[in-house]
Order: sequence, then C-alpha cells, then structure tokens
Amino acid sequence: MRQKIKDGKRIVIKVGTSTLTYDNGSINFNRIEKLSMIISDLCNMGKEVVLVSSGAVGIGCGKLRLAKKPETIKEKQAAAAVGQCELMHVYSKFFAEYGHVVAQILLTGIVLDNNEMKENVCATFETLIKQGIVPIVNENDAISSYEMENVKNFGDNDTLSAIVAKLVNADTLIILSDIDGFYDKDPRNNSDSKMIKEIHEITKDIEDFAGGAGTNRGTGGMKTKISAAKIATGSGTNMVLANGEKPEILLDIIEGKEIGTVFVGKKEV
Ligand code: ADP
Repeated sequence: MRQKIKDGKRIVIKVGTSTLTYDNGSINFNRIEKLSMIISDLCNMGKEVVLVSSGAVGIGCGKLRLAKKPETIKEKQAAAAVGQCELMHVYSKFFAEYGHVVAQILLTGIVLDNNEMKENVCATFETLIKQGIVPIVNENDAISSYEMENVKNFGDNDTLSAIVAKLVNADTLIILSDIDGFYDKDPRNNSDSKMIKEIHEITKDIEDFAGGAGTNRGTGGMKTKISAAKIATGSGTNMVLANGEKPEILLDIIEGKEIGTVFVGKKEV
C-alpha cells in the first residue's frame, strides 16, 4: 500500500486551521513557511501538488485584531474575505522564496452541480498543474453559507479536499491535522486509544470511532475526515491522515514510510 503512495504523482494536501495558527488564533508563520518549502520540494521531485488550505477566518480575525471569533455569518464572511487575502499573500511570498508560483481557486458547492463550471475549473486546475503552478484552494466563504438558499456549501475543508482530489484525479489525498492518525477512540479523552494504520472499509465501527466534534480552532473533528475518506476512496484515491505539526512529515509519507492512517482507495467501477 505504502508503495502506491510512493508511486503516486498527483497529490492533494489539506491543512487545517489548527496547523496554520497558534492556540490564540494568530498565524503560525514558521509552520506556513515550512509547509511552503516542503511542497516546493515535492514539486521539484516531479510531484504535482494541489493545496487545500483553511485558515481564512482565523487569519482575518488576527488581521482585524478581533478579540474573539465573530458570531454572525456576515462578520465571519467579512473576516474570511480579509483573511483569504492575507493567507494568499503569505503563501505567495513563501513559495516565491523557494522558486514556485501559486494560484488561488475559491470554490462553492454550486460548481459541482453545473457541468460547464465543473469543466472550467477542472481545465483551470490542469492548466495550472501543467505549468508547475501550485493551486491553493479554499471554499469561497463570501458567497457560501448554510443560510443562503440555492447555494450548496461544502461545509468543511476536509470534504472540499476530497472533492478536489476527485476533480483533479489525484493519486493521493493527505489531510494534515493536529493528531497522528485515526484512533479507535478520541485520544484526547482516552489514554488507551490505539491508532489504526490502514483502513480498507469504512464500517459502522469506524464511523462510531470518529465520535464528536474536533478542537475549538479546528472544525470537523474526525467525522468530516471520514466523510472525506468516503469520497476519496470511492473515487480510487488513497487518503492519508497525519499530523501537520512538522510539515516535513509530508516527505516521509511520500517516501512510503508508515506514517499516519491510510484509507485505501477502491478501484473506481
Ligand atoms: P483540523 O483542524 O486539523 O481539521 P479537528 O480539530 O477538526 O482538526 O480534528 C482533530 C481532532 O479530532 C483531534 O485533535 C482529536 O482529538 C479528535 N478526534 C475525535 N475522534 C478521534 C479519533 N477516533 N481519532 C483521532 N482523533 C479524534
């Protein structure tokens, strides 16, 4: 299995807010710089990488010097609009230092229901990737919200990353979180929990292990990682869940080392 991950050429990497920011919500430049350097290195190795990055609301709150997360949807969307700009600025700067160009792609659920939009975005991804550019994807928070009728949102970036992996026919989806992998119980509350190295089938037991919500700064917890795993494996993509604390871990994963949990992709029927 790990050999397949080693051989995979096209990789989608998702990083969560908990990886990109400190506990107090401020931007973790050190982490983002390392991530940018490692992804640049992966590109230099000949891998094709798409990054799905959260963090816009958190970084927007920091930029606006808000003492606490905004409560209303409108304020959250405003913070996301400010934060997205800042986030891309930071990525663009760090990637440029390592000789790489990035592009921003903001998606909404509606794109999936419209063939023309879907074809357009797939063509844009292909063109960027062929030019060696790293697409950085996020949900278009300014126009997606649960409250808006007729605009289906992805809800969380775990699911979004799996959809992106499907759109670009990725070989591997790597979700970086604040935990080493998928456990048989939430390790935050259970000292006897054990990490599962390989999951071939997302059974009822596995869904039950996913338990409740994640950390304050994160969003989905394991439930959304399992939803992502279903989409990714269902379209033949292997998904790896690993800890993003040290972005260098990406190199080990790509070398086929036994890191994190692999959700094994099914051959598409
Ligand atoms: P992110 O921002 O990276 O998406 P989340 O905070 O949303 O991260 O989710 C990660 C958290 O999910 C972990 O810190 C962990 O405490 C919790 N969790 C709940 N159930 C499990 C499980 N079965 N295995 C691993 N982590 C779990």
